[in-house]
Amino acid sequence: MSDFAGLKALVTGGASGIGRATAELLAERGAQVAVLDLDPSSVDKPLLAYRADVTDDTEVREAVAAVVADLGGLDILINNAGIGAQGTVEDNDDAEWHRVLDVNVVGMVRAARAALPHLRESRHAAIVNTCSIAATAGLPQRALYSATKGAVYSLTLAMAADHLREGIRVNCVNPGTADTPWIGRLLSKAPDPAAERAALEARQPTGRLVSAAEVAGAIAYLASPLSGATTGTALAVDGGMQGLRLRPV
Ligand code: NAD
Repeated sequence: MSDFAGLKALVTGGASGIGRATAELLAERGAQVAVLDLDPSSVDKPLLAYRADVTDDTEVREAVAAVVADLGGLDILINNAGIGAQGTVEDNDDAEWHRVLDVNVVGMVRAARAALPHLRESRHAAIVNTCSIAATAGLPQRALYSATKGAVYSLTLAMAADHLREGIRVNCVNPGTADTPWIGRLLSKAPDPAAERAALEARQPTGRLVSAAEVAGAIAYLASPLSGATTGTALAVDGGMQGLRLRPV
């Protein structure tokens, strides 16, 4: 793993789960790291905390401006804030589609728009978007969520092309089911959460969930100068599900 000394990173949705693990890993490796989150109250030093809702363009712009002023620039954007949605196309109304698309897709666009002028000034500029196996797997009962992650994948490719000659690399990670507070919240709704967790683990290719730290490791690689020739790529962190063409359940 490369040394992030001298690099400045911003992680959206960095207060919890994958974002938190990524922020902590980048900081451990020497980056100065800012976290942007709806609720950054749990964020401790050395991470810097900024409250913003990625659905509010003004809040995102102001938070990115504050990060750049405080850190003295920006090299890395980790576009990670996201929310879930369950069901088929018949289960979510228009308002729900707009709400989840607004967070998961337009939220990433807002953060990128605010960050790009600063990334252009960097010699190691990278954007990493948190996508999902849902982008391409055809998961049942995840129509809206899958559509948002399909859009994140396309956006990653389009941005990689648009900013290639500016020296800004854009990649994404595709986690499988990752053990984060999000999954904890989903499991807690089951009649027997422990049995539900055991069943979920048994359905994974490796018999266990992916850890937040394992996703963070992939994100950190794509953000680091070690991956300097890699852009427009989706890195699977799914225990072999996509690579081995296993059926997600
Ligand atoms: P999480 O709920 O633990 O963390 C998400 C963070 O995003 C929270 O801190 C939350 O406050 C923040 N957030 C949510 N909406 C926001 C908004 N409007 N503005 C600013 N911040 C906001 O979830 P996680 O599991 O760590 O998920 C992180 C990312 O990983 C998401 O994009 C998710 O789609 C993706 N992902 C997760 C899994 C999984 O199994 N956990 C799998 C594939 C992809």
